[in-house]
Amino acid sequence: MIVKDWCMFCGECAGVCPRNLIEVKEYSLVFNDEECKDCSTCVKVCPVTALEKD
Ligand code: SF4
Ligand code: SF4
Repeated sequence: MIVKDWCMFCGECAGVCPRNLIEVKEYSLVFNDEECKDCSTCVKVCPVTALEKD
């Protein structure tokens, strides 16, 4: 997952991941990519379109 510079670290994406794979740190997002099922729920919920699948 690519996180754009304008991410506000609001945690919305982390809150909706059905597999709980996103961890919000102070100035970064950590994805557990190996378990990601590419459902795109996190991409769709971001209010500022800061996530992109790589
Ligand atoms: S929902 Fe968007 S702005 Fe909020 S933490 Fe996730 S990627 Fe960043
Ligand atoms: S694509 Fe789906 S499974 Fe993967 S991190 Fe986003 S919400 Fe979680």
